[in-house]
Amino acid sequence: MFKNRKFWCPCNQYNLWDNREKHQNKHLFDQYSFTHISGGFFQYILFKKYGFLFNLILHIVFEIFENASAGIKFFRNEYDIYKGDTIANIIGDLFMFAVGYYTISKIKINNILLFITFEMLLYFVYNDNFFLVFYKSFLNFLYSKKV
Ligand SMILES: [Zn+2]
Repeated sequence: MFKNRKFWCPCNQYNLWDNREKHQNKHLFDQYSFTHISGGFFQYILFKKYGFLFNLILHIVFEIFENASAGIKFFRNEYDIYKGDTIANIIGDLFMFAVGYYTISKIKINNILLFITFEMLLYFVYNDNFFLVFYKSFLNFLYSKKV
């Protein structure tokens, strides 16, 4: 699966952030990088007792699923043009997960409140967030709109 994965966007522009639709998931960061901060919050809330390393591995397992053909198919239920992440974007996602996980472990705000507030912020700025990525893909999967 990682064999035919490209390292970087075929546009060959080396800007680290690119949120234009055709460049999403292909540079280091785009709006979906922030959903991995939410992912870090979410995993901390659920699994903090298992520690950072466990959660990092869990997130790597998620990235492997997301970029396997089954995962790509799943997210395509909602995101038509999704073809999986580049290696650089996977590294960016894991970095953002770690930022989220570390931040929530240090910040003295109610964890669930922080998670919900951040998700609402993403929704207002990008009209999408961690919860909606899964929820919309799953709904479309259920109703098999695009199979
Ligand atoms: Zn590009």
